[in-house]
Order: sequence, then structure tokens, then C-alpha cells
Amino acid sequence: MRCAVIFLTILLYIPHARITFAVRKRESLSFLNSNNPIAIMFSPEFDKQLRQMERDGVISRKQFLQISAAAAALATLGTDKAYAAKSSARGRIVIIGGGAAGIGMAARLKRALSNPDITIIDPSEKHFYQPGFTLIGGGVYGKDDVWRNQADLMPEGVKWVKDVVTMVHPTQNKVVTAQNGTIDYDFMVLAPGVKYDWSRIEGITYQQIGQGNAHTIYDWRGAQLTWPAMREFAEKGGRGVFCDTYTKHKCGGAPKKICLLTWDNARKLGTTDRIEMQYLTGSSQLYNVPHFTPRLEEIYRERNIPVEMQCKLKAIDTHDKKAYFEQTLTAADGTKSTRTLKQEYDFMHFMVPQCAPDFVRESGLSWTEGSLAADGWAMADQYTLVHKTYPNIICLGDCAGIPTSKTSAAVRKQLPIAVANLVSLMEGGAPEARYNGYAACPIVTEYGKVLMCEFDYEKKEQITFPLSLLDMSKEQWVAWLLKVYALKPIYFELMLRGLY
Ligand SMILES: Cc1cc2nc3c(=O)[nH]c(=O)nc-3n(C[C@H](O)[C@H](O)[C@H](O)COP(=O)(O)OP(=O)(O)OC[C@H]3O[C@@H](n4cnc5c(N)ncnc54)[C@H](O)[C@@H]3O)c2cc1C
Repeated sequence: MRCAVIFLTILLYIPHARITFAVRKRESLSFLNSNNPIAIMFSPEFDKQLRQMERDGVISRKQFLQISAAAAALATLGTDKAYAAKSSARGRIVIIGGGAAGIGMAARLKRALSNPDITIIDPSEKHFYQPGFTLIGGGVYGKDDVWRNQADLMPEGVKWVKDVVTMVHPTQNKVVTAQNGTIDYDFMVLAPGVKYDWSRIEGITYQQIGQGNAHTIYDWRGAQLTWPAMREFAEKGGRGVFCDTYTKHKCGGAPKKICLLTWDNARKLGTTDRIEMQYLTGSSQLYNVPHFTPRLEEIYRERNIPVEMQCKLKAIDTHDKKAYFEQTLTAADGTKSTRTLKQEYDFMHFMVPQCAPDFVRESGLSWTEGSLAADGWAMADQYTLVHKTYPNIICLGDCAGIPTSKTSAAVRKQLPIAVANLVSLMEGGAPEARYNGYAACPIVTEYGKVLMCEFDYEKKEQITFPLSLLDMSKEQWVAWLLKVYALKPIYFELMLRGLY
């Protein structure tokens, strides 16, 4: 208990308060230099020494884990040293989308350029920390814990056009908006996120979220409706049907998280014998990152939640509480066939198929061939993030057609690459910085534990030090603390300010 308190104090108070204070006061973050404990914790030397101390018996296994846990929290609050020298390159930069990628990009560009001329086009008044939707759905966060006014996040000096982009003319360097006419650019950042394609599920529309007890946390209102319904299901019991979708989608872990939290609610209430649960995935595997998949599959087995593969949600009959899936079956000789799976439910959590916003394809910015073409994802080079046809366009975030997992963790790692390459292009150079596909997905497996999956393009684990000191192929409580307490302030206070 004492350790938990000490740890929480370190986690919640010291670094965050100090960084927030420094940011608010516009002070330098010089305490994050190599002479301070946080920076030291980033170093491989610290890792080595800690391991040696444990081997030598100087610290116990328990102490080793406690130090690692505290260090994990501290390390995530570090900043990088991206802004040693500002570039004097000039050019009108238009950023489409003021989400995680767009705001983060504007903030970093402001720090990287001495004469920034940046316009963000985005219609939204509210900016949502979407990873928090899962925690609203799970009853951990309240509805107002996840948003800020967009106006408060706009970096100073950045022009905000509160409008929707309807078309881009990339050969003429023009962006067309719904109400503000045409805006010219020299360089463009394409970051409009995803479009939820409700037309691909029969029987339910966006306005009907929650109807017939069919829920989705992939929406702020939907997440709010999910929690009481999930709780009621866990109390009363019945049949719970959970699914993901067959398109590329944001945070592949989220539908699994809500499924596992539902089960854990029943565990806490002592009602697991009253519920029957089923998970249906559009993929051929529950999860496809080998370091983490075995434990995740084991958890589903332990909780008696069977998983059906290759299932596409086609329709929901909200009146009779039935969901219809098209399942692809592969015979031993490789022949494929499909069948319809009908799932009766008392509580359902579903995900809507996703694609790039329409204007991306209509503007000729999408892939035209390959697996990313069907849903219109932007034709970006997966390493440099530069558009394959138009080298004055950088694509990042969920809209980018790159084979990474669509997460804000991925955006965080894309941002410094995108900025370095854009600045280099503005200076007349080549885009040389390379993104390795890093993404992270904290899969909440129960209240108090998270399987923190961090990986790259090769689906190889990329565990951030000092979490690498723990066995991250298993769920850990320190990862829960990070998920619930640390990642949101990191997002709002550091990432969106271009500091991390
Ligand atoms: C339920 C859920 C759980 C998640 N969990 C996690 C998690 O645990 N960890 C994690 O790292 N990530 C998670 N994510 C994913 C993460 O939130 C996204 O990957 C991230 O927000 C992507 O940033 P983005 O800027 O590309 O898109 P967004 O943040 O969605 O921003 C896109 C912006 O573009 C604007 N826009 C759209 N169309 C237009 C247009 N035509 N003109 C102008 N502006 C436009 C929108 O208004 C929006 O502001 C989760 C997401 C969801 C929904």
C-alpha cells in the first residue's frame, strides 16, 4: 500500500505538476536535461545498472519492480530535444484536421520554424481524447474527462479556419472548404482521421446508437450510453455479443477492452455464471502481435469467451436484438465459402467499418491499388510519411495509408518524423527521417491491469524502457496506472503542445 502511495505521488504529482507548471509559465524545460533523474531513467545505462543491482542482491526483486514501475511513469513524461535550431524556411502550410495529428503537428512546426505560416482547417469546437472513450464505457472516466475546447489547444499564432474541407486540388495547391472558399498552400498536412461508414451496417444508424441495447464506444455519446448498459448486463446476466470490424480501424484493442471490462464487471459483482459472452473478429486471429497474442488468447479462454474469426457485421436487428454476420470459412484445400451467423444478444458492443473521409479519395490522394485502396486511405510512404505522388503533402494519423495500427501512440511517434521531413522539404532537401511503424495499444484486461502492447511495422515488440524491465507479454498494474492516470495528461499537456 505504502509503495502504491509513493508511486502514485511520483506519477501524478511531481513530474506532471512540474511539467504542466513549466509549460503554463512558458519556462524552459531545462530540468529535463541529462543531469536530472528523469533523463537518467531514459538511459540504457540505468537499465543495465538496475539489472546488475538485482543480480548482485543489492535490491530485491520486489524493489526492482517498484523502481521500474516508478521509472516507467517518469520516463513517459520525458520530452525530446527536437528544437535545437529553428529553420528559417518559409511557406504556407495548411493542415487538414485538428485532431491528435493536426494539433500536434502545428505545435511542433511552430517550434521548428522561425517564420511559421500555419493554418488548421477543422470544424470541431471540441477536441476529444478518444482513448478515454473506453474508460467512459467502462465507468472509470466521466463524460467530461476526455475533452477540451479546441480553441484552447490551438497553438498561438496558428490560424484556425472552422470549416470542413470538401476537396483538395493537389496539382494546384488548393484546398476547397464548405464555407470559406479556396485556401492556397505551399505545403499541406493531411490529417483528417477516419470516416465511420454507417452505410455498411444495416438496421442501425449513428442517431440510433444504443437502440436495442447495441452500443459502441467509438463515439463520445456512445461511450456514455455503454457504461450503464454494460453494468446492467453484468448485474442481470444474459448473452453479450462483442465484435470489431473488417476494415482497418482505430485502436484494434478497444473492442477487446470493452469486452474484457464487461466480464470483469460481472466478476466483481459475482455474476459470471449468469452471463454468456461471444467475441467475433473480422480478422483471422484475435490479435496479431506474437509477443502479446498468447496471453490475450489465454485470457479469453480463462473467461470462457469463445472467439469466432473472419466475421463481418452486416446487420443489427435492434427490435429483436439479433446481429447478423457474414463469416468466411476456409476449407482444408484452401477453398473459401461464406455463411451467415445469427447472434442473439441481450447486450451488444459493435464497431463501425472505417475509411478515409470522402474528399481524400475524390481529390486523388488515396491509394489506387493494394489492400489500402478499397477504403481510400491516403497514399503515403510508410517510412517518410510523404505523399507518394505529391511531395509537398505529408500524411499522418488515422487517415494515412500505412500499415501501422491507428493509434494516438503511433501519431506521437509520427510527429517528429513528419516535422523533420516537412521542414527538410521546405528547405529544398530530401525527407530523410524514417518512421518505424511504432504503435501502442494498452489492452485493458481488467480493472487494475493492462496488457500494454507496443510494436512496430514488423509486429515486433518495441517495449519502452523501463517497462522493458517487466514481463510485458503479461498484463501489468503499472500499465493500468499509465493508461488511467498518465497518458491523458501526456496527450493534452505534452503531445499537443509539441513537447513529446
Ligand atoms: C474508442 C477508441 C479508443 C482508442 N484507444 C486508443 C488507445 O488506447 N491508445 C491510442 O494510442 N489510441 C487510441 N485510439 C485512437 C486515437 O484516438 C486515434 O488514433 C487518434 O485520435 C488519431 O489522430 P488523428 O489526428 O489522425 O485523427 P482524429 O484525432 O480523429 O482527428 C481528426 C480531425 O480531423 C477533422 N476532420 C475530419 N474531416 C475533416 C474535413 N473534411 N475537414 C476538416 N477537418 C476534418 C475532425 O474534426 C478531427 O478533429 C482510440 C480511438 C477510439 C475511437
